[in-house]
Amino acid sequence: MGPHKRGEKRRKERDLVKMEKAEDSAELGEPSEDSTEAMARGKKGRTEEQKKYIGAHVSIAGGIWKAVEASVDMGGHSFGLFLGSQRTWQRPALDQTAAVKFQQACTQHGFDPKQILPHGSYLMNCGSPKEDVFAKSQAMLVDELGRCSVLGLTQFNFHPGASMGSSKEQCFERIAQAINHAHQQVPAVCTVLENMSGQGSTVGGQFNELKSIIDHVRDKTRVGVCLDTCHAFAAGYEISSEGGVKSVLDEFDQVVGLHYLRAVHLNDSKGKLGCHLDRHEDIGRGKIGISAFRNIVNEPRLDNIPLILETPGRPGFEYAEQIKLLYSLCED
Ligand SMILES: [Zn+2]
Ligand SMILES: [Zn+2]
Repeated sequence: MGPHKRGEKRRKERDLVKMEKAEDSAELGEPSEDSTEAMARGKKGRTEEQKKYIGAHVSIAGGIWKAVEASVDMGGHSFGLFLGSQRTWQRPALDQTAAVKFQQACTQHGFDPKQILPHGSYLMNCGSPKEDVFAKSQAMLVDELGRCSVLGLTQFNFHPGASMGSSKEQCFERIAQAINHAHQQVPAVCTVLENMSGQGSTVGGQFNELKSIIDHVRDKTRVGVCLDTCHAFAAGYEISSEGGVKSVLDEFDQVVGLHYLRAVHLNDSKGKLGCHLDRHEDIGRGKIGISAFRNIVNEPRLDNIPLILETPGRPGFEYAEQIKLLYSLCED
């Protein structure tokens, strides 16, 4: 897709904000350091080079192209979305006209496919020991990757699965089997496994579990990982401590390999460290806390990949405000 025209426009806007701010300060005769104001204006914002692609999971209600507009409206530089209804296994095929409108909107607003990460249906369990559930899940994964192709998207994120009474090793193999099958059916799209909180029999909470699945995937160039901060924290990864983000990324690098990291889901956690509960909270309002997110948005190893919010977004602190807050924490 096209060049980052939108980024250019944003930079101009930022420059205007800077000028405005300088005028304000001159008038007041002192630097205005009201934190709310700074937050509202995305203080410091970005330097010339776009590095952190912060955005949010957006709705496709009213047409899939609406996701692009919704993301632009909230100031997102990346986004997540579902590719169909979450309630049913049988979904009507993607409308071609809608797909074209989606691609046009992405080009118009300067969203590169690598900054967009679709999220899989929650119905899927590619690790299920039950033949019927596995077959339906495998078919759905193929369908989802096919939707990505039609939309011009290059990667697809989903929850690995749950063992439901089978062994974890069997579960890893089944998930990889579904991925290998989908890779055969649909060219090019990369399957991105999300780390989980370790609730119930879900797999992928520990980095070595993600690695075990990847080990069974034949085409390693078409498999990656999306790190969800809430899930990692709930699974026991201490990102909230001093140096926590760095050491957890070091561990990820050692166990899985940083080159597999395709995206991050930015979520605070309602539950405490190691609680194994998948309960997202607004940024800075949960048990992870704001300092971990400051470390994340200033972590060079997370440059140039989508950083996507999936938080409740309560009134007054919706996605737009959380995106602004996160950009205001960027120090470069
Ligand atoms: Zn998810
Ligand atoms: Zn997530």
